[in-house]
Amino acid sequence: MSYDKMSASEPVQAFLERATGSFIDGRFRAQGNARDVLDPATGGRLATLAEGDGALADEAVALTKASFDDRRWRDLSPAVRERILLRFADLIERHGEELAQIETLNQGKSIHIARAVDVGFSVDFVRYMAGWTTKLEGSTREMSIGMPEGAQFNAYTLRQPLGVVAAIVPWNFPLMIALWKVVPALAAGCSVVLKPASETPLSVLRLAELAIEAGVPRGVFNVVLGSGSVVGTRLAEHPDVHKVTFTGSTAVGKQIGHAAVEHMAHFSLELGGKNPMLVLEDADLDKAVGGALMGGLLNQGQVCAAASRFYVHRSLHDEFCRRLAEAVDGMAAGPGMDPQAQVTPLVSQRQQRSVLDYIDRARAQGADIHVGGAVPKEGFYVSPVVISGADHGMEVAREEVFGPVLTVIPFDDVEEAIALVNDSDLGLAASLWTESLSQAMRLTPRIEAGTVWVNTHVTLDASLPFGGFKMSGLGKEFGPEAVNAYTELKSVCIAY
Ligand code: NAD
Repeated sequence: MSYDKMSASEPVQAFLERATGSFIDGRFRAQGNARDVLDPATGGRLATLAEGDGALADEAVALTKASFDDRRWRDLSPAVRERILLRFADLIERHGEELAQIETLNQGKSIHIARAVDVGFSVDFVRYMAGWTTKLEGSTREMSIGMPEGAQFNAYTLRQPLGVVAAIVPWNFPLMIALWKVVPALAAGCSVVLKPASETPLSVLRLAELAIEAGVPRGVFNVVLGSGSVVGTRLAEHPDVHKVTFTGSTAVGKQIGHAAVEHMAHFSLELGGKNPMLVLEDADLDKAVGGALMGGLLNQGQVCAAASRFYVHRSLHDEFCRRLAEAVDGMAAGPGMDPQAQVTPLVSQRQQRSVLDYIDRARAQGADIHVGGAVPKEGFYVSPVVISGADHGMEVAREEVFGPVLTVIPFDDVEEAIALVNDSDLGLAASLWTESLSQAMRLTPRIEAGTVWVNTHVTLDASLPFGGFKMSGLGKEFGPEAVNAYTELKSVCIAY
């Protein structure tokens, strides 16, 4: 049976015909260099889109700014904006199968993940964020200044939308991560220009169409395609952009922060992680193995919060590795559109090469590598790998591989393990596995990560702030913190 684009539903095929390039001010723009968008399962062409350049980025910013300046979105009442965003969620839900298929064909992931996570989580997320539209608030302040004699003051804070937001997103969860930025920004009353990764532009173009259908006025949410070095750089340094919100690599995040500061734009950076899973001696091994497979291999490990270094008490280490190896041996490989496939392709040949090189270097360093079952020759597959008895100093234990590589390191003593967990420049997320409440309460505050899970991994919720410590970034997505981060806090002081 074929699982290429011809197997996709009729609305997907129609969309692939319709989409021609960037989506600005409510219409596709076909001008620019043609770039093929590939299906990672075959390496074949899915669509050809026109990539934008610096001039198109400038035009997109100008039109986004015009929509902010003429107040076509921010001056709608909060209740109206909330209703429009709820309608947007309804449309994402109604077109969920179409969006999931687009995401799977373009990103390579399992259709089950695309349905449940990329679309399912996103629908809940948009509904949650829509609710904040009507709940933004400032506060009153008591003025204690005694001057001038007899003067009275009334003082309060106001939350106002920041303005033009540039959102730059990666290729691992293109639609979902775009929504994590676009919807809180819209809830706050901002206008947004979004740049997807060149590898995965399709699903966000469909989102931009749906936003208009939901009632978001034209020009308020624009998508500009193009390379990071040209279009991404231009957005980050553009003087009319008030905030840059970025998810991706630490190296690019630093450049974006520097560019934003040059014109005093706000910025938030959700960067990578080298996320530890710490399995204590008293952990429930069944749960821990299940958590490792889910937390480490979701989307073939192409997840910023993926578990990728596993510190396992020596008494459990061999059995833990044995069960992981057995599980990866039994996984069927195939295109994401194949409902039976558990091992699906990575996003690109570049990412496949990068992950295979990490594995080769680990092998050259003498790592004990167990490779899972066979994968198709065609397409960008990497069979999942379990590395046992690893050393904390190995490259695969320290760098973000962003692929299906589970590196397991034994430890003897909890203090030693905590030191290893914290011995990283990165600090996005971590998980602790123990049946002891007391250990959980004692150790979670000591783990240097923006999110610490206990007996679970990669459990995200729209209400729970998500963002890294250390080199994993600045700022939080989700929760009221995310919406507030798209507002400017103004103090008002009235003398009477
Ligand atoms: P990247 O940081 O290069 O790209 C992310 C986004 O930034 C893309 O849209 C890209 O076009 C854009 N970009 C690239 N250079 C830019 C620049 N100079 N200015 C502005 N925008 C720019 O990430 P990548 O190459 O797609 O992946 C490389 C590594 O990044 C991965 O292997 C992984 O370690 C990490 N990554 C992290 C996440 C995450 O969720 N935190 C997601 C994807 C990738």
